Amino acid sequence: MRILVVEDEHSIAASIKKGLEQEKYAVDVAYTGTEGYDLAAAEDYDLILLDLMLPEMDGLTICRELRKNKIHTPILMLTAKSQVDDKVTGLDSGADDYLAKPFSFEELLARIRALSRRPQKTLNNTLTVDDLSLDNKTFEVKRSGKLLAISSKEFSLLEYFMLHPHQILSKEQIISHVWNYDADILPNTVEVYIRNLRQKIGKNLISTVRGFGYKLG
Ligand code: CA
Repeated sequence: MRILVVEDEHSIAASIKKGLEQEKYAVDVAYTGTEGYDLAAAEDYDLILLDLMLPEMDGLTICRELRKNKIHTPILMLTAKSQVDDKVTGLDSGADDYLAKPFSFEELLARIRALSRRPQKTLNNTLTVDDLSLDNKTFEVKRSGKLLAISSKEFSLLEYFMLHPHQILSKEQIISHVWNYDADILPNTVEVYIRNLRQKIGKNLISTVRGFGYKLG
């Protein structure tokens, strides 16, 4: 899952990015409103963390413009405590939720889980396809109850497949949801990751749909 963080305070942006990457999210950071708007409009994010007060273009304007342009990515607005009255305005502008600063990282994660696809359809944070299970809180992957050793990136890749079981996913879709903007990733890098993943989870679970992409289950 890929998240855009729009935050002009570099230290806050850096700590959010670091924390989210530890949770296996791919993260892009924008430091100004226009940069944030441009990325949000151009890329296919799973969630946007949007600061309210930003240089060039404020969070409310970004929100309104994105919604006006039919971009419905979930938005979690970050506001200073003194701006809590702006909550209503924020939600009116099309944000899905808001969080007042300062917040604990645990609270941020809980809100992100509530807004994104991670928790909703799952029981005990576990996604299951056939005899394969993936726990996105402990980051454990098991096949027939047996724990598998997979890398951080392989986990993110498998999670994306498990959130879309039995659907054909193109390499482009996979790249845009599993890797961040800075990652120098090519379509054949995806092939390499999928080959490695197949070796670990079992070759028959992910099939190649020639000319279209890949399918799990
Ligand atoms: Ca700010």
